[in-house]
Amino acid sequence: MIFRTLKYKKYAENSCQNLTEFQDNFRNKYDTDNYENWFYNQSSETLRLYSENKEIYFKYIPIGTFSQNKNTWMWSWANESSVEPRKFQTLKVKEFGEKKKYENLTKEHFEGDNFTGWELTSIAFEIIGGIGTYRVISDNLEKYFLLTEEITKEEVEKIESELIDCGVHGKLRKAFVCQHLNSKQKTGFEEAFETYRGMELDEDDDFQAWCSECEKERLKTDGWDDESMEFAKINLVCEKCYFEIKEINE
Ligand SMILES: [Zn+2]
Ligand SMILES: [Zn+2]
Repeated sequence: MIFRTLKYKKYAENSCQNLTEFQDNFRNKYDTDNYENWFYNQSSETLRLYSENKEIYFKYIPIGTFSQNKNTWMWSWANESSVEPRKFQTLKVKEFGEKKKYENLTKEHFEGDNFTGWELTSIAFEIIGGIGTYRVISDNLEKYFLLTEEITKEEVEKIESELIDCGVHGKLRKAFVCQHLNSKQKTGFEEAFETYRGMELDEDDDFQAWCSECEKERLKTDGWDDESMEFAKINLVCEKCYFEIKEINE
């Protein structure tokens, strides 16, 4: 046990060192220290840094939060109150932690200190990758971001314009399901392609699923046609609804 703790410590120190070097370059390149304000949008997973006459936008993956009041860390995959789809990419860190038996990487939340947030962020950075990291603090809550790319204001607006407000989960990416799929009954769950929570989609891909009955209709005609489409009556839902439906069918 002591040996494992030492091993983790060494690994964490190493990751922190790597991030520090990387982060210095990042801060120089994007001049991130010289913006007065920040704003982040969970739905589009974008961070905006801005001052009176300049601004810059980044796509982000939320890593986790550290409560200065309670001195506890919480991984974003465990955070029920955040809606960012890509938070589930931090499950890669958990998987790695399970293999190595590093408790800090697998537990949902635990006590820490001033360094915990940066330590875990540097480990996430090493495992998931990105162009840099950023932290914001409000109401004694530190929120850590992995920045994956710089994007333009127009791109942010495009992302936001393509989201759907499902009424339950707020604004999220669109998903399509047949009229029979719901989050209460098992109906079978056929997909256009294999999906997982928080996955990146190509420009012309959408989350699409249908029930077993629809699958029978679809196979009758060797693919979708007017008749099977009429049977399916595809509905628009948000991606969180989509994965809730998928979960009860598993
Ligand atoms: Zn159906
Ligand atoms: Zn929804």
